[in-house]
Amino acid sequence: MKITMLGTSAAVPDPERADSAIHISIGDKSYLFDCGHGATRQMIKAGIDPTEVNHIFLSHLHYDHISEFPYFLLTTWICDRGLSPVVVGPPGTQSFVDHLFEDGAFAKDIEARAQYPRRQNVEILRPEVRECQPGLIFEDELVSVKACFVEHIPKEISECFGLRLDTKDGKSISFSGDTAPCDAFVELSKGVDVMIHECTFPEEAIEFRKKVKVGTWAHTSPIELGKLASEARAKCLIATHFASFDSLNPVVQKTMGVHMPQEIMGPHQLDLVEKDIKKSYSGELHLAYDLMEIEL
Ligand SMILES: [Zn+2]
Repeated sequence: MKITMLGTSAAVPDPERADSAIHISIGDKSYLFDCGHGATRQMIKAGIDPTEVNHIFLSHLHYDHISEFPYFLLTTWICDRGLSPVVVGPPGTQSFVDHLFEDGAFAKDIEARAQYPRRQNVEILRPEVRECQPGLIFEDELVSVKACFVEHIPKEISECFGLRLDTKDGKSISFSGDTAPCDAFVELSKGVDVMIHECTFPEEAIEFRKKVKVGTWAHTSPIELGKLASEARAKCLIATHFASFDSLNPVVQKTMGVHMPQEIMGPHQLDLVEKDIKKSYSGELHLAYDLMEIEL
């Protein structure tokens, strides 16, 4: 079993990090958690064939977690995907997918390509959508996947999920999606082999964002992450979904300037994040970067 961190960024465009996407391979089967911008190209860089990814789980419907999905569907169709993919996501996923097709965003493109003899199989393009609620959301001969509510977008707008995948031979991975520290996710992750958890901003940026009142603060700080990973007794922790606070790119720094003072950005912030997580968590810790692989 191998985990590949395809994208480790948050919503700010970053040349060093694609948006949220995690590939899990078990034998010759592929599972994808989130489908953020860049995921398909990252799969190819990692030697993963995207036409063989048939199960996609969306943690929530923020664009940095789903914007690649239309590209992934179309491009694997024209690359001769063999099966229609299954996409499991929160309520709203069906509408998101439907708007790509008849009278939707890509209707003309699909109609044009479907004229070719090799593209008569339009049914392959259309995924099977399963909108889910907390509990068991998927099962096949290799894995079961459970979901819980996490705390990110107000529920009346859109539900957000944390996920846990268990293999039939006893290995386990949990993924927080985006969330503030959340008891339900700690409970879902109890004793997990690998916890993959968002850690969007370092402590200094969180203080700054509170002062300037920018965006949501429904994220988890490094100090909070150390505490909850320890409470869940996660054997290994991968911190991810970094909002480019480590970037030295001047354009990224300018964009991120509303979230934290430009002069404190840079790779040293990752050292501070690591130090803050380790205040409470003593297990194996990885700070995610794109294409990082973990074997289980
Ligand atoms: Zn996000």
